[in-house]
Amino acid sequence: MSTRVGVVGAAGRMGIAVCQAVLAAPDLELVVAIDPASAGQPIHTLAGCDAATGMIAEDLSAAIDAGAQVLVDFTVADVALATLRFGAANGIHVVCGTTGLSGDAIAELSQSYADAAANAIVAPNFAISAVLMMRLAEQCAPYFDNCEIIELHHDQKVDAPSGTAVETARRIAERRAVTDSGDFGADPTEREVIVGARGAKGAANVNLHSVRLRGLVAHQEVIFGAQGQSLIIRQDSYDRSSFMPGVVLAIARISAFPGLTLGLDALLDR
Ligand code: NAD
Repeated sequence: MSTRVGVVGAAGRMGIAVCQAVLAAPDLELVVAIDPASAGQPIHTLAGCDAATGMIAEDLSAAIDAGAQVLVDFTVADVALATLRFGAANGIHVVCGTTGLSGDAIAELSQSYADAAANAIVAPNFAISAVLMMRLAEQCAPYFDNCEIIELHHDQKVDAPSGTAVETARRIAERRAVTDSGDFGADPTEREVIVGARGAKGAANVNLHSVRLRGLVAHQEVIFGAQGQSLIIRQDSYDRSSFMPGVVLAIARISAFPGLTLGLDALLDR
């Protein structure tokens, strides 16, 4: 039997790609598309969604009427928080790719999903290559003296640094902590001639630099330094289709992962 999927933020850049991926997956059914900006329009008017039926809905209540079993959210942080609360309250699994959720929001959701009749995943990056990039960075973390991350995205991205960069630094810091290697050394810069030149300070003293350019999609370099050597791990998402195998995998597997899961990693190897 196919899984009944709802897409929140359906008319957005990622939402349209998710609608296309759900329509193309033989075991998934697109039962509701929610986006107030395009409410009332036929879903089939979204690019590449010719096979869809029904109208774009205004709000989450449509997910209950449609009998959605999984909601996929690519919107903005406050809307994603509402979607995740709604899923927990109504027993609908949520696959959330929206970035920028606060630590407080994640803590609240961990609690509510611990007792909920549904599960959720919040993942800052659904590209398999990005998940592996984070794993490799984690593995390298104890062996170097410095680490800086450059993340590069399209010119419409509203948050900085990217969720992937923040999560990569968090995982590097976690690995440094368990291997007793501690934070990376203090920044030698005594004076920033232009404020912000050294980027933002992430976990474990990893400096995070955000580039925004028309033409880019999502890219990241993790640069490790040690005496006389460096290692650069680079990942590129050339278009939004790169995220879809991970989103479809999460939709298929989320029912088997109780509570709130952070990152695609946990779902990947089962
Ligand atoms: P976008 O602005 O193109 O789309 C967001 C959509 O959400 C818009 O169509 C908007 O109308 C809709 N929206 C706003 N309020 C809503 C509401 N109350 N209910 C339903 N829909 C609502 O943005 P985008 O480029 O598609 O990115 C969306 C999010 O996905 C961002 O947080 C981005 O960082 C993230 N993202 C994550 C991944 C990943 O792999 N996890 C990949 C790319 C982008």
